[in-house]
Amino acid sequence: MEERDDEAAGVPDMTMMPHITEQAINDNLRRRYKYDLVYTYTGSILVAVNPYKELGCYGMDTMLEYRGKAFGTLPPHVFALAESAYSSLRNGEKNQSVVISGESGAGKTETTKLILQYLCAAGGQASWAEQQILEANTVLEAFGNAKTVRNDNSSRFGKFVEVRLDGRGGIRGAVLRHFLLERARITEPAPRETNYHVFYQLLEGTKHNKELRSTLRLRDDVQYKYLRPEDEEARKGRGGEQGKLEALQLALTVLQVPPQMCEGLFKVLAAVLWLGNIQFQDVDGERTALAPSDTEAVEAAAALLGLAPATARRVLLERQINVRGNVTDIPLRLHEARENRHAMARALYSRTFSWLVRHVNSCSAPGRDATRALGVLDIFGFENFASNSLEQLCINYANEKLHMFFNNYVFALEQEIYQQEGIVYNPIPFTDNAVCLELLEKPPRSLLKLLSEQCHMPKGSDGAYLTNIQGEFGEHTSFVKGSRRRWEEQFGVRHYAGDVTYSVQGFVDKNRDTQQDAFIDHLSRSQNPFVRELADYVTELSPPGQDCTLSSPNSMGTTQRGTSKGRPTVVDTFRAQLQSLVDMLQATHVWYVRCIKPNENKEAGKFNADLVLEQLRYLGMNEIVRIRRDGFPVHLPREHFLQRYRCALPAACKEPDISAIMAVVGAPATDWQVGHTKVFMRSSVHAPLEARRNHLL
Ligand code: ADP
Ligand code: MG
Repeated sequence: MEERDDEAAGVPDMTMMPHITEQAINDNLRRRYKYDLVYTYTGSILVAVNPYKELGCYGMDTMLEYRGKAFGTLPPHVFALAESAYSSLRNGEKNQSVVISGESGAGKTETTKLILQYLCAAGGQASWAEQQILEANTVLEAFGNAKTVRNDNSSRFGKFVEVRLDGRGGIRGAVLRHFLLERARITEPAPRETNYHVFYQLLEGTKHNKELRSTLRLRDDVQYKYLRPEDEEARKGRGGEQGKLEALQLALTVLQVPPQMCEGLFKVLAAVLWLGNIQFQDVDGERTALAPSDTEAVEAAAALLGLAPATARRVLLERQINVRGNVTDIPLRLHEARENRHAMARALYSRTFSWLVRHVNSCSAPGRDATRALGVLDIFGFENFASNSLEQLCINYANEKLHMFFNNYVFALEQEIYQQEGIVYNPIPFTDNAVCLELLEKPPRSLLKLLSEQCHMPKGSDGAYLTNIQGEFGEHTSFVKGSRRRWEEQFGVRHYAGDVTYSVQGFVDKNRDTQQDAFIDHLSRSQNPFVRELADYVTELSPPGQDCTLSSPNSMGTTQRGTSKGRPTVVDTFRAQLQSLVDMLQATHVWYVRCIKPNENKEAGKFNADLVLEQLRYLGMNEIVRIRRDGFPVHLPREHFLQRYRCALPAACKEPDISAIMAVVGAPATDWQVGHTKVFMRSSVHAPLEARRNHLL
């Protein structure tokens, strides 16, 4: 890869720009984008602008080019960052992680894949563990990705992949965590969007596999309500699903899912589709019946789930209440029956997803010698739609949390170290979001805490929650009261990236996420062995931070199925997951990739400067560039520095000293300082030192 050095193509490292303004950063990215230079550094932070076309710079030849090269010696590339993280790990430095941020469609997931591919290639010959890591991706994409307005292959869950390595840098396995799979999509994809890819792959793939089709009771001439007909047409036009089912089956085989389980799993997917087609009718305002004309859907769903038809009917039409050991059946009203059926479908699907994640973890479980870890975080960016619900609140909360972590990591801690070490520097202000986070999560009373309290009350409601928070936080600077007209249904939060209005409708139900215990109980006695396992797997409610491979699913299932009173709600769990994620990141060296979406039309070569500017603000790029330029991002203990770079001095030199080494690379006095215990450098000094060392060794 050639890096153009003519001025027209901008600078590869934005800390080198003489005048840093948002405009200058934007302009630099635009110039580079014109020449397909989609990567740009800001010190060690990588900015990646989505090219929306094949660049031809991700092949094995490019990987080899970057292999073993110090950061900054070659043109900016995601492989350079992966290489640096990998080689730091091999050199025995602390565990590494890469945090990838950006809005939907900016290229986070593609970047994650490229980093994993690089690691697998660098880790030596393709081993079994490596193949499993790559195949796991195929499975997760089929089950966790969908076509949205913003992205044709949008991941609808957050993930943290931790690649585990042995002392020599060989890949020994991976541990995956997932966050907040979007559940509404399963039963109700938004207009112009689709359900999860796997449903279409299944329908298309079984066209050529009649045997599987009849096992799964799938029909050509039936319109499945959970799939929009117009989307199926669009998909057919693209012909994109052909061969996908085979690829999925192959991936499941590589991941050692037994054939019997694969079949059971596909049956659950088919059952979900049939559940959506069940028709109910009102009996007398209190009770509901199944529409007599249409029994196929119920029969198919029951058979696929391995339940007796009578059992299925019971869980579809009644709710069991357990009061101190006495079980009573209460008939469901029409709208309750409809909603209950959707809840069953969502529970089945999200449990299937969790099952897959755990399975991947158990079969690529790293051995005892896997002492090092390199994690990659691919998590949804800040969201602000026309209508925002609990999902957006959770996503934006996650972004606040990561923003705080980033601020701490890059700004606060950095400047604290300067002070401790007696370094001379100009303080750099940054947007502190602590106040907003307090509103969201600080105990004992916060937006999330009050929501969970509301969910534990038998008569808890969205309206009561809204009244509560308006009373409690009316004066809080990060709380925005809804506009007068929508006062009874909305509230707003002043996020670091802007104000977002949330509609409170559905908050309590979504956060409770109650599933009928009776339904889960029947599943545990199903004829379908996969379904029996689902009864034990708890959707995304597994205690975070726990190594999935270490805890037995059974014990977790029972704790979750306890009383509903103390049961953690969706936001309780998410909050704990996020905290454990941040704690873990804290213990690692963190690399950042900021992904940017250049236009709204998924179009190559088009750079919409206004759109990019907005993202640069969300991403805090202006401040980042300044601290990286005005600060001293590379710190090394003095002894470490001398040991590492004494090779730059003539062999005759007995007493190596820091200034002498700096003089060899002609480092200007403004670009480095010596603190009480450490040497501080700008990237402009560090890069040539590393280059010289590599050259000499
Ligand atoms: P995100 O995960 O941020 O929502 P994705 O990683 O799924 O976004 O990227 C969206 C789409 O953009 C991809 O499906 C692909 O078409 C395109 N894309 C992203 N990164 C690249 C890249 N490095 N090279 C080519 N195309 C890319
Ligand atoms: Mg994604």
